[in-house]
Amino acid sequence: MSKEKQDNLMEKIVSLCKRRGFVFPSSEIYGGFAAVYDYGTYGVELANNIKAAWWRAMVQENENIIGIDSSIFMHPKVWEASGHVGGFSDPLSECRNCHTRSRVDHILEDAGIFADEKMSEEKINKLMESNKGKIKCPKCGKSDFAPAKSFNLLVKSNLGNFTGDWDKSPVYLRGETCQGIYINFKNVLDSTRARIPFGIAQIGKAFRNEITARQFIFRKREFEQMEMQMFVHPDSEMKAYEKWKERRWDYYIDLGIAEKNLKWHKHENLVFYAKAAWDIEYNFPFGFKELEGIHSRGDYDLAQHAKCSGEDLSYRDPVTGEKYIPHVVETSVGVDRTFLAVLTEAYTEEKVGGETRIILKFPKKLSPIKAAIFPLLKNKPELVKKARDIYDNLKLRFMCEFDDNGNIGKRYRRQDEIGTPYCVTVDFDSLENEDATIRDRDTMKQERVKINELEKYLSDAVG
Ligand code: ATP
Repeated sequence: MSKEKQDNLMEKIVSLCKRRGFVFPSSEIYGGFAAVYDYGTYGVELANNIKAAWWRAMVQENENIIGIDSSIFMHPKVWEASGHVGGFSDPLSECRNCHTRSRVDHILEDAGIFADEKMSEEKINKLMESNKGKIKCPKCGKSDFAPAKSFNLLVKSNLGNFTGDWDKSPVYLRGETCQGIYINFKNVLDSTRARIPFGIAQIGKAFRNEITARQFIFRKREFEQMEMQMFVHPDSEMKAYEKWKERRWDYYIDLGIAEKNLKWHKHENLVFYAKAAWDIEYNFPFGFKELEGIHSRGDYDLAQHAKCSGEDLSYRDPVTGEKYIPHVVETSVGVDRTFLAVLTEAYTEEKVGGETRIILKFPKKLSPIKAAIFPLLKNKPELVKKARDIYDNLKLRFMCEFDDNGNIGKRYRRQDEIGTPYCVTVDFDSLENEDATIRDRDTMKQERVKINELEKYLSDAVG
């Protein structure tokens, strides 16, 4: 796709999200708040369905994966032990002309030069130096940058600190959800029948002082992660790793993502304890970018927390008696990035009778609204009553919407734009025959279905 087409698609998606109540910029009446967004009426439904699909695939369908929900705040030592206080940083450089701060690996990448955030300050500064004229400030276009410095991404808070200089010993909003999993490893082990290999999964908010706010909800400062840590025997780590790589790829196919829009990216610059790190990238409107990371982390996290807390976080095999610190295979994906991928995948324009029909062709299980119920005419009380009765019944099973506003064509277009798979219309024949018209979002085909069979029809169709 050309750059112009990519920008165009992104603009269309952002505009649809605002127009139809999927995503709003935060604090818009105050001029917005960079890299923070709110989910609107349909956005929250889509995000909930995404989380439900992930939870089902990870927790419900796997006997040996257990869910938890840990707090956003943890003891500050958690972040020292994990290495975040010392090293959770991205390379930042300031444009000497307009003072815009940019992430150096990103401006290098924009100029077609391979870089990543894990490179040392020295290495990335050398790259900047040798590509001086090529890298440009995204704001003013000049090529005059101050040397890159590591900028720590942890967000600080004064929770529980009532002194004036709390920032000298801050607590942190969690920078990733998985630390809440590691520090509960022993609790889970002691309170359940979990035996290695087993996983702990969690969905929750994470916070990062991202240097650049761009690409809509792809890079937020407050975002949500869905993470799973699989605890395994050291000898099985790479076997488990390969298995989870495969399973996470299949998960996206199952979620309705076309295989051509997914690709693997192997990390070459590994942190010292990692054995492997691959990303699943999605073809976003701005190109292939990370959707999910799959990492093999050795025993680093548990060993660090054991060392810094003084707790024994080893595992004793109940059969062999062997004692060891489990190794970890992690799968980590953002709700918001999945949201954007699912939206991008679903966004469709079709020409119908000289007009453009915009449709969000979500997989039905992800659609915010499963069925919209319409009376053909608003001013016919008998039609309105029948349609309301159907709505009142179906809403107990599915997210439904009642709409009697405007002509039927307009109502269909509105539902197409929010991705509703079925519209049910009550007309005069319905009063005589106890049936209604059901219209399919994708084919626009209509059929008559008995009113008392609608629930089964929808249940078979949307699950
Ligand atoms: P990036 O290189 O894009 O900054 P990352 O490698 O730092 O991402 P991880 O720390 O591996 O990301 O986080 C796991 C997942 O959490 C990512 O694959 C992504 O889906 C999500 N994620 C990370 N940072 C953000 C963010 N700022 N906004 C939205 N989602 C995010």
